[in-house]
Amino acid sequence: MKKIIQDLNYSQLEKLIEEYGEKKFRAQQLNVGLTRGGKISGINIPAALREKILRDYEDEPVKIIDTLASSDGTEKYLFRLADGNIIEGVLMKYKYGNTQCVSTQVGCRMGCKFCASTLGGRARDLSSGEILSQVLVVNALHANGRERGVTNIVLMGSGEPLDNYQNVVKFLKDVTSPDGINISARNISLSTCGLVDKMYDLAEEGLPINLTVSLHSTTDEERVRTMPVAKKWKISEILTACENYFNKTGRRYIFEYALIEGENCDEKHAQQLIALLKGKPCHVNLIRLNEVSERELSAADEKHAYRFLGLLEKGGLSATLRRRTGADIGGACGQLRASYLINKE
Ligand code: SAH
Repeated sequence: MKKIIQDLNYSQLEKLIEEYGEKKFRAQQLNVGLTRGGKISGINIPAALREKILRDYEDEPVKIIDTLASSDGTEKYLFRLADGNIIEGVLMKYKYGNTQCVSTQVGCRMGCKFCASTLGGRARDLSSGEILSQVLVVNALHANGRERGVTNIVLMGSGEPLDNYQNVVKFLKDVTSPDGINISARNISLSTCGLVDKMYDLAEEGLPINLTVSLHSTTDEERVRTMPVAKKWKISEILTACENYFNKTGRRYIFEYALIEGENCDEKHAQQLIALLKGKPCHVNLIRLNEVSERELSAADEKHAYRFLGLLEKGGLSATLRRRTGADIGGACGQLRASYLINKE
């Protein structure tokens, strides 16, 4: 695999252009073209320079090879990376803008029992430029002459973002840079299964992004049944790390809680969740489990989900039940990639 030019920020691009012995303003031309989601081969720079760059760098490190559109407007993409690996992404359309869900690793090694992304383990980390390119190509598809086609980003595709810490932080810096696509950090949410040590590191980065933690259980004993990471970090340690994140950044934090029938959504669980979170500057995002065919777990039905939501609200928590967007197109993590890989076999 050649190098990935989207791994370079603007000053690194300037350095590259200087090394090629070209005038500085070529870096700006290149940067504008790349930020618009263009391929190197399509950017308006002298042909000789283009060829030099293409000798060293991938022309299209992230290529959309399939798009599925849901009846609710959600679009799901299958991307091929330069080494042939496949990842997926989603664009969800809301009144306030378009939210893109990006992947941070090929597969995942966290092993959560309800998640399709982790079925085959982790193949490799994505580079910062591979994460950024997902945004640039989807933004280009949806810009339609507006300043931006993607306004919000969630790091909730395949992979555990904090298990690829350096590249993810570089991506966050580049995607929020005024030299690039310049998406507001406040419009970006990073979701983690709770890698506590890295949550402390993230609080020190000076990036006011939203932190989301996938909780899904109310006790360590139950959490370890679906999330192996619970062997390493206790819920109490996660909560302390979240408070530290709030103190350092001033950002409220969010807990994801997928309602799994017979597993985590009895009245007892609602009361435990209230006891854990009451009075904390946080919000609970409930979602009915997206059922994954390779997994035995089933979703709580809608009535049950609303009852659970009602209990949390009565107990004083800020909570919402998330709409399941794109359920007809394999909306849950890793479902599309998993079915693509199976069909290919
Ligand atoms: N590794 C990160 C981010 C990727 S998963 C994390 O664990 O947070 C994004 C979110 O989708 C997480 O909250 C994850 O627990 C949840 N998720 C995974 N599979 C799901 C499923 N089948 N149904 C509902 N939510 C799911």
